[in-house]
Amino acid sequence: MIYGAIEAGGTKWVCAKGTGPDDLRENVVFSTTTPEETIRRAIAFFNENGAEPVAAVGVGSFGPVELRVSSPSWGSITNTPKPGWQNTNIIGLLEEGIDVPLAFDTDVNAAAIAEHRWGAARGLSTFYYITVGTGIGAGGMVNDQLMHGLVHPEFGHIPVPHDRDSDPFPGVCPFHGDCLEGLASGEALRARWGKQGELITDDRAWALEADYLAIGIVSAIFALSPQRIVIGGGVMKQPSLLPRIHARVLELVAGYIDIDEQAGGIDRYIVAPVLGDRAGVLGAIELARACALSHV
Ligand code: ZN
Repeated sequence: MIYGAIEAGGTKWVCAKGTGPDDLRENVVFSTTTPEETIRRAIAFFNENGAEPVAAVGVGSFGPVELRVSSPSWGSITNTPKPGWQNTNIIGLLEEGIDVPLAFDTDVNAAAIAEHRWGAARGLSTFYYITVGTGIGAGGMVNDQLMHGLVHPEFGHIPVPHDRDSDPFPGVCPFHGDCLEGLASGEALRARWGKQGELITDDRAWALEADYLAIGIVSAIFALSPQRIVIGGGVMKQPSLLPRIHARVLELVAGYIDIDEQAGGIDRYIVAPVLGDRAGVLGAIELARACALSHV
């Protein structure tokens, strides 16, 4: 029995089949163009002549998305700023060409469930998964269930203290300006410093970046009490960033939680993903597996 996966990102889609990290086959990657063209290519991938059939297909999507199964728009992308994709019913369109059960969740919840099954969150029941890339997102599990609710976590849009004297940058979020994503996403780094994150060598940039991310992370620690925080994404590839975040989180927690005693130390509490860039597509495989089991 193999499963299908779609990592539906805002810039690219990845389609794959397989059962896990040691068995991921037939990966294809294509650019996210119009909904019609992009979804047509995904359907074609699963219907190729001679293709091995899959038991179900999991979709981890960029958002925001509608996750309430009771809603007629379940499986849709909702008010994304991405042109052409507002209110696109991804699942409805995929169902027209794929004849197996479909599972749907956010891209970060997909990455989270993959880290739970095979990676940095194995054995934990309550954890948070944060990605800092072009945007900032988070997902995770509470008591072994993926975080769903009114909508889904929107960690990138929490407000953070912003001292405009020391940091006059107004932020890039089209909704809020200087929310966490507005100040600390890859897009914000590029806009503030005039170059891509990987090209920024100014120490001040990474100190400021660590400061904003640590504020967000401490909010998540106190609000959700995760047993661990897994943090990845393109911006986190800057080697100095995670150690800076560790130091700043400890300062902000200020001993209120004993992270050494209760979490085994900051290095074990806030960690990089084990599955790296494959977490999203592996999570979609895991969503598909759960979906197939529920349809037996
Ligand atoms: Zn925002």
